[in-house]
Amino acid sequence: MNIHEYQAKQVLKAFGAPVAEGVAITSADQAEAAAKQLPGPLYVVKSQIHAGGRGKGKFKELPADAKGGVRLAFSIEDVVKNAKEMLGNTLVTAQTGEAGKQVNRLYIEDGADIARELYCSLLVDRSVGQTAFVVSTEGGMDIEAVAHDTPEKIKSVVIDPAAGVTDADVAAINDALALTGEAAEDGKSLFPILYKAFVEKDMSMLEINPLIVMENGHLRVLDAKVSFDGNALFRHPDIKE
Ligand code: ADP
Ligand code: MG
Repeated sequence: MNIHEYQAKQVLKAFGAPVAEGVAITSADQAEAAAKQLPGPLYVVKSQIHAGGRGKGKFKELPADAKGGVRLAFSIEDVVKNAKEMLGNTLVTAQTGEAGKQVNRLYIEDGADIARELYCSLLVDRSVGQTAFVVSTEGGMDIEAVAHDTPEKIKSVVIDPAAGVTDADVAAINDALALTGEAAEDGKSLFPILYKAFVEKDMSMLEINPLIVMENGHLRVLDAKVSFDGNALFRHPDIKE
């Protein structure tokens, strides 16, 4: 079972991870009020579908040169205009197949000033029964392509369940992501938080692509994909499809 980006971010936020402010909407009438709750002046309008590659996706019903499923908006009017154009239409991405997926919900989010886009995921390595961080400096793009073209840019840090995320683990992850200064300080709290959320919520996969370093030097979770094992569903009465 997968949950939407905005739900994944709610879960991570509850554990203390740095995520942007955002408001989910299901009708264009709600767009203006949603945007008014955010600081501005940059907003992002994000399609909530169970598939990645939304940014580079295309809407079936719109002209070929129309923007994709994740759009920057520079004013509240711009948020409303994009929401009207996106809601109800069918988004086709590299992960949806040709049929695409209808966009019935948008997440209106505070726009971040991005300095670097990184990749950070957590998964259970079944062969050793341990959880591993899989990270790369090459975030914001298709990780399969990175694995194929430049596998040396993907690093894995296995966590000993008895010890949890140690200082040495954090140092290894910070090093693999080339984090320094405030971003490395943020890593000291973020990586243990991600591990805690992963273990306590029984996730089978947590993928943050991208994790960003902002222009102000701090880390932020910009996209989040969470999968649960089917049999872990009953532990999540708070999460609805
Ligand atoms: P997907 O992976 O489905 O394409 P993302 O959430 O990763 O969707 O968004 C695609 C890209 O859009 C990101 O790599 C980032 O460059 C940009 N983006 C997404 N959210 C924001 C945001 N809140 N502020 C600024 N840029 C964003
Ligand atoms: Mg993404």
